[in-house]
Parts: sequence; C-alpha cells; structure tokens
Amino acid sequence: MLSLFARLPWIHRALIAFFSAFMVIALLLPAPQELRQHESFYQVGKAYPLSINIDALIQQQSVPQLVFLRWEKHTIGSGDSMALLFQRAGLSSRLLYQLTSTNKEIERQLTRVRPGDAFQLGFDSDNQLVQIARQINPFETFLITKSEDGYVSSLDKKEVNYQYNYAEAMITSNFWNAAASAGLTPNQIMELAGIFGWDIDFSLDIRSGDTFKILYQEKVVEGEVVDRGKIIAATFTNQGDTFKAILDDKTGSYYDENGRAMKKAFLRSPLDFRRVSSNFNPSRRHPVTGKVRAHRGTDYAAPVGTPIWAAGDGIVQKSSYNQFNGNYVFIKHSNTYITKYLHLTKRTVKTGQRVKQGQTIGTLGGTGRVTGPHLHYEFLVNGVHRNPRTVKLPQSKSLAGKAKTTFIANAKLRLDKLERYGQLLATP
Ligand SMILES: [Zn+2]
Repeated sequence: MLSLFARLPWIHRALIAFFSAFMVIALLLPAPQELRQHESFYQVGKAYPLSINIDALIQQQSVPQLVFLRWEKHTIGSGDSMALLFQRAGLSSRLLYQLTSTNKEIERQLTRVRPGDAFQLGFDSDNQLVQIARQINPFETFLITKSEDGYVSSLDKKEVNYQYNYAEAMITSNFWNAAASAGLTPNQIMELAGIFGWDIDFSLDIRSGDTFKILYQEKVVEGEVVDRGKIIAATFTNQGDTFKAILDDKTGSYYDENGRAMKKAFLRSPLDFRRVSSNFNPSRRHPVTGKVRAHRGTDYAAPVGTPIWAAGDGIVQKSSYNQFNGNYVFIKHSNTYITKYLHLTKRTVKTGQRVKQGQTIGTLGGTGRVTGPHLHYEFLVNGVHRNPRTVKLPQSKSLAGKAKTTFIANAKLRLDKLERYGQLLATP
C-alpha cells in the first residue's frame, strides 16, 4: 500500500495527505451545535416528554393484567351436573349458559362431565369469575378466561419430555406377580403379554425361571415423571426360548429383530390368561380327570362365564350342541386352518357367521361329557390335530424394503440399549 502511495504523482500525494489531515481534524473538533443539542437532551432527574408508539402501548394493555385470584376447587359428584356445581360455587345459571354458548369447545368441556372431574375456579377481589381451569391430563389444562367482551378458551400445554426406564424380572410364582414386583403397571403387564402373547401362551406355558427385560418410555413434565409411555423393546425367555420384540415408531406395531411381525394370524390362547387357573401344570395333567392328557386338544380351566375368543379371522363352520361336546363352535379360518371350542355355557355366534380374531364366540362352561367346567380347544392344520401352543403360526404383515432396513438398524440400537440397562442394573 505504501509503495503504491510512493509511486503516485506528487500532486496526488499532496491532495491525499491534505484531505486525510482535514478528516482527522474534523473528527477531533467539537461537534456542531445541532448535534451537541441532541447529546445533552436528557439530564438526570429531569422529566422529558417522550415520543412513544401509542398503538403499541394500547395493544400491550389488552393482554390480561396480573391479578391475584382466589382459587376454589369444585368436583363433580355422582349424579351431579355442571349446573349444580355452579350453584355450589355461587355462580348463576345465566353465566353457565353464557359460557357454554361462547364456543363449541367450552360447551364440550363444561357439559361432558363425569364424577371425579375437578374444576378450579378463579375469582378476583370483587368475587367475579375470571378463570376456569380444567386439567385434562398431567400436561394439558383447558382454560376459560374472562376477557373484555365475554370469555375466551385456550389450551395450556406443558412441554412433555421422554426418558427411558428399564425393568426385568425372573418368574418364580407367576407372570403377573413377577411383573408387578418389577414395578410394571397393570397396563404394562397386559401390554407385555400382548406383545409376546402370539408366541407364548401366557395361561399355560409360563414356567418358573422364565425371565423378561423391558425398555419403556416415561413422560416427564417439569422434571417429574407423570406417566409411562410405550414399551420400546423387550425380550422374553420362555422355557429356554428367547423372543425379542421392538416397537416400530412408524406403524406403532412390534416386530422381531429381523422385522417379522410379532402379531400372528392366530391367538396363542383363546381366552384371557389372567382367568386361567392352571398356570403351572408341568405334567400336563387333564384339569378334570387328573390323567396325563391323551386327548387331542388343550384344556383351559377357568371360571364359568369367561369369554372365549375366536383365535383368528374366519367363518363359523358349526355352532351347535351335542351330548359329548356340549355347546361347541368350530371356526374355519382358511382351507388350512380350523379351530374348535367345546363345552361352552353359551354360544354367541351362528353357523355361517364371519368372525374377527379376538371376537367373543361364547363363554366357558361345563356342558357335554365333562366332570368340571373348562374349555377344550383344538387346532387343526390340514385336518390334523396340532398343539396350538407350539405349532408354527402364519404371520400377519411383516416389514419390507426400506421400512424393514430402517427398522432393523433402529431395532439393533434399541436392543443394545436394553442390554446396557440390564448390565447397569446387574452392576452393584
Ligand atoms: Zn379336553
């Protein structure tokens, strides 16, 4: 830069030097009067008129002002109504009418009430109702707030975060007790049985020494666990066989580590495992005769009246009664599969009727040639009796293509996480 300056003609050099000097002097000089005036405009302790955007100020004022409310909690009792609750709170039926006719959502929140529903009513110092708050769940509260003209409704949403938690157990007495002792909620226990219920008959095949591990979500609001979310991954070891299930976020269904659906075309057992009394029956003795089973079916001993479910989709081949089978239902699922249900108290389907998997077809009983009430269940593959608890069942939809690739990668991470949690728990 300097060498460039040196090569310029002398007159240019002189002009540049002159103007540079002039600018330096101009910067150092005291500011002209009009500029200095602005600088000295505000003096400490003196009041000055300020130019303020009035519109902005008015807008700000329409935001509800900070008022201290007196809160009253009122709860809907049995045989109660919102009108009665308003009466107890000293509020007029006219106000209730005004509120419910404000908008559909307010109407819904104030009329669809059930015993136990709680409402927080906020009153100002003049005993005027300013706000109604109805907590919908731990993270959502419905608000009705008084405004300049009438009332407005809004939904107050807290941020929900998710964290993982882990549980594992070894079964010593029965599945339910083991799961409950491991800290699972009744919902989670049913979910777990639902996930593996296609591979394991939870009513007859659970054994002492079986183990399970589950990784599940917890919902966290403001640092506190408010609810449990979905089971993310789980493994179940039943009589030496380990089954793995991982949640697919896209479909909300569970698949094994290879992307094969956990859900099968047939239920492993056609009734609720919780109602079956013979959870441990290693010798597989007939629950009625006491003899080791020689007949071609599975017997479930459960209370009379227990609902019996169709093991899979199909058409009722026969719904009838005879002196041996008592009330019985046969279901044809395809040319390959037929299931049979015997000794029912009551049949709730008719011959020729289409049934869905899990649909109740009758109730457990002791009709026909039996010495005590039980369900006799048969599973036929191409006309041959098979053990419904061990027969390989056709799957329902499995993942394919890109969905499968993504799932398998994700499943590996989740199973790794499950294992790591297990190791952490094992380390004292
Ligand atoms: Zn039997």
